Amino acid sequence: MKYKKQIIEIAKIMYSKGMVNAFEGNISIRDEEKIIITPSQICKGFLDVNMLMTIDRKGNILEGSHKISSETGLHLEAYALKDDIRAVVHAHSPYATAYAIANKPIETKAYPEMIALFKKVPVIKYGTPSTEEVYSDLKNYINEYNVLLLENHGIVAFGKDLYEAYFRLESIESIAKVLLLNQLIGGPSDLPDEEVKKLLAW
Ligand SMILES: [Zn+2]
Repeated sequence: MKYKKQIIEIAKIMYSKGMVNAFEGNISIRDEEKIIITPSQICKGFLDVNMLMTIDRKGNILEGSHKISSETGLHLEAYALKDDIRAVVHAHSPYATAYAIANKPIETKAYPEMIALFKKVPVIKYGTPSTEEVYSDLKNYINEYNVLLLENHGIVAFGKDLYEAYFRLESIESIAKVLLLNQLIGGPSDLPDEEVKKLLAW
């Protein structure tokens, strides 16, 4: 029940912050061999614990009366590829998704927190929604990055628990917003390479 409550808590925060619209995005937690995941077609702001789905690591439904998300495969693949991932948050949050649909990674030489904490958020290659193509490129990035953009789609973040995964996603959304706004006032004032190196080593 603890994990279900965490999912509801984060789902409501994401909805209230405009990071998921009515039907997009999904949240999951891995609890040993079970995965608890948000259902398909129910707005994240109106979920309760009884609506959450419990599935096994192959996606078979163990508990719950709703449909599982068409993006469940993305979550299952992340858990299969990296054992220390215990939570996955996927959203089509507006600023990060603006980068994703431009097929542009989020990177900068001007924003110290972005450089030191994330280095870069790369774009994994496009796949037709609800097919395994969506996550076929995940294996090439998941060991190096804990937040990724999905080309022409959205953003996904991983963590050792749900709070870590969500705060990573929220942090990148806010950085993407700053970087986009920055374009309106003439673009970034880059730090010297020496300073960027120090941040990367930090
Ligand atoms: Zn999506």
